[in-house]
Amino acid sequence: MSSDLHMHTTYSDGKLTPEELIAAAKAAGLRYIAITDHDTVDGVAHLYENNYLPCKGIRIIPGLEFSAHHPTQEIHILGYNIDIYNRELVDKLNDVSEARWTRFSEMVEKLQKLGYDIRETDVLTVAGASKSISRSHIGRVLVKKGYFPTVRDAFSELLQKGKPAYVPHYRLEVGEIIELIHQAGGMAVLAHPKLIFDDAIVENICQQGIDGMECFYPQHDEADTKKYLEMAERYHLKPSGGSDFHGFPTRFPTEVGVFTVDDAYAEAFYQPEPQS
Ligand code: AMP
Ligand code: MN
Ligand code: MN
Ligand code: MN
Repeated sequence: MSSDLHMHTTYSDGKLTPEELIAAAKAAGLRYIAITDHDTVDGVAHLYENNYLPCKGIRIIPGLEFSAHHPTQEIHILGYNIDIYNRELVDKLNDVSEARWTRFSEMVEKLQKLGYDIRETDVLTVAGASKSISRSHIGRVLVKKGYFPTVRDAFSELLQKGKPAYVPHYRLEVGEIIELIHQAGGMAVLAHPKLIFDDAIVENICQQGIDGMECFYPQHDEADTKKYLEMAERYHLKPSGGSDFHGFPTRFPTEVGVFTVDDAYAEAFYQPEPQS
């Protein structure tokens, strides 16, 4: 059996609803999954409210993925097994998603000034149920309108840090995120360390009280995986891994179950009862 500890739904920038994601994960024979939407636990709340959690036949880790502040690099931190009703967490997530609304509106304005025909309503249509509006949604609008062949191209040209339409997130420091996850009863895991493109930053984060590191990731080759497993061991971090499934045909993995980790890694993060 195998598991996937990094997956997105329609509550952030994924294509599948939480129910569809669970059905796909069950069909693929997965034993554990973590639902890790960007800056929101709304998908997990939806599952609790509709009696989908706990779920028969599959073990679901309630999670999320935070974006930490950094002037040049992208730093993402996963939280596993958080109490999604924790007051401090809920309050902070409200501030963060509110800031995402201001941010997307500023990005749309920048794009308009650059000559792109794009309106806020275009982005909101693509975002659908998601209250965590992201650059992915803006990128999809730009592709839909024929400006770029892929979302990746829209990022390289306009949306990445340092590019003309970029606007920073709500400012959350790494230490603050780790503390927020801990006080909500969860475990903090550094996501896709290779994508930070600077191992000095990675090693610094390893020393800030984080619990785990996502050593297994689609963009990590064998040497990267080995390096991060060794680093995790050196700093006494639990190794984690996941596919970062979003469900879109142009982004690997296109299907649930094609990139997985051994259950033993997931078991180290799983808590049968959500804490409250
Ligand atoms: P945001 O949360 O607004 O910072 O948007 C970040 C999201 O955009 C990530 O979670 C990815 O899903 C997506 N993303 C980031 N970089 C790229 C890229 N180069 N190409 C395509 N999608 C990307
Ligand atoms: Mn994403
Ligand atoms: Mn990420
Ligand atoms: Mn992700």
